[in-house]
Amino acid sequence: MSERLFWQDPYATRFEATVTRAWEEGGRFLVELDRTLFYPTSGGQPHDTGTLGGVRVLDVFEPEKHGARIVHVLEAPLEEGARVEGEIDWSRRYRHMQRHTGQHILSQAFLRAAQWNTIAVSLAGPEIHIDFDVWPGPEAAGEVLEQAEALANWAVYANLAVSAREVPEAQVPLLPLRRMPKVRGAVRVVEIEDWDLAPCGGTHLRSTAEAGPIKLLGFEKGKKKTIRVYARSGWEALEDYAAKHRTLKTLAARFSSGVFDVPERVKKLE
Ligand SMILES: [Zn+2]
Repeated sequence: MSERLFWQDPYATRFEATVTRAWEEGGRFLVELDRTLFYPTSGGQPHDTGTLGGVRVLDVFEPEKHGARIVHVLEAPLEEGARVEGEIDWSRRYRHMQRHTGQHILSQAFLRAAQWNTIAVSLAGPEIHIDFDVWPGPEAAGEVLEQAEALANWAVYANLAVSAREVPEAQVPLLPLRRMPKVRGAVRVVEIEDWDLAPCGGTHLRSTAEAGPIKLLGFEKGKKKTIRVYARSGWEALEDYAAKHRTLKTLAARFSSGVFDVPERVKKLE
């Protein structure tokens, strides 16, 4: 059982811990710690990387779904009982926090814009994928996406506080949760003030302002009557903007035109 330091302070990057178990499996060096800042892949959010006792951490996972154990996969072995210092790769983790918080903001934005319910998410990145329980057709979908994007960015500019707490099982039915938890027992809930309340075990930002900008990139029809929406949040939205801007500027230079004249110039070539 590992104490989950990433829940206590998602902004912490360094910690000390004791190796409670160390073993080798299929040529991989594995350890468990008494406490850890390394987030294991779960709930759609990818694992952290970094170093432990100077050794690179390649993967972090939970051997049992919703279990208490966290296993770290290392590049080299560490000794059982050793006291080690750990450091997570902050730029990687921060992107995960932007994606994840961006997803919570968006899930609520779609609920408010058109009563679309989130049924699945992927935060593998750099894009956020959100699956909703409706297929409204391409035209209506386009309109909803526009409204939801505006709502989501208003939530960003409103600089709303984000916090997490554990709620006893008996109180869970009393909460206005966006969706019901998948686990029994006490539930960790993530609240965006005046915006959203959802059960979640991930790491999040302290304010919605840090998740901006939020950009929707497109959608496609999913299986049965569902829709999958593609988005980017934070740095990854900015990078997308920068790359597309660069591409468009290059194209415009080739035509000796302004960027907004490019479609017209291309049309003339066809
Ligand atoms: Zn979350």
